[in-house]
Amino acid sequence: MVIETERSLAMRCPACGKLNHQVFSLFELSGSRTLKVHCNCGFTLLVIGTRDHKKYTLQTFCVVCEMTHITICSAKELWCQDQTELFCPDTGVELGLIGNRAIVREAIRKEQTPLQVLLQSSEYNEFFENGEVMTAVLHSLQDLADQGRLYCQCGNANIDIDIYPERVELHCPECDGSLTVYGRTLEDAHLFNSISQIELMKDSLPGADGGKFKKRNS
Ligand SMILES: [Zn+2]
Ligand SMILES: [Zn+2]
Ligand SMILES: [Zn+2]
Repeated sequence: MVIETERSLAMRCPACGKLNHQVFSLFELSGSRTLKVHCNCGFTLLVIGTRDHKKYTLQTFCVVCEMTHITICSAKELWCQDQTELFCPDTGVELGLIGNRAIVREAIRKEQTPLQVLLQSSEYNEFFENGEVMTAVLHSLQDLADQGRLYCQCGNANIDIDIYPERVELHCPECDGSLTVYGRTLEDAHLFNSISQIELMKDSLPGADGGKFKKRNS
């Protein structure tokens, strides 16, 4: 039996709607006996409690019932199983997924809307401050990602992309490196056209523009 000390949680935050990938460790539970996993917005996504390290209670807030549900699981289920799904007991709606990093990352990737679908929906075009520019920026990002030219200094090339009306936030789920790129003006679109590579800086603070652009022909 292999005991991993690290677990990942995939969960859409009931407060801000963001799809989270949070990593926590078994050791965080050793002293306090309760472990809280938070969304970046501050909302508590998951509370893990245990008295004896054999049985664990998992508390999650359910958006459907607007109340907290409690799931009870064994140490083996929580720490050794590839994945444990958290369900609403009343509606069967999936609330989240706990598992190893790779499985959780894959689940999140599947959950995200493919860029192509996103760009074709008119709703999303209205969402952007400057639809034309943002579409160009997103296409460029997709191209870079497809060619393996969008990656993080830590070696990870599975970069999360959060889209806002006038900007795109790139985030490395492995080391929390992040980078913001803007798509407001024609200059932004032109700048993006000339970029041949984007490297996120490892461990950069949220909101900090830690990244390197490499221009074509340079
Ligand atoms: Zn949140
Ligand atoms: Zn529920
Ligand atoms: Zn990274």
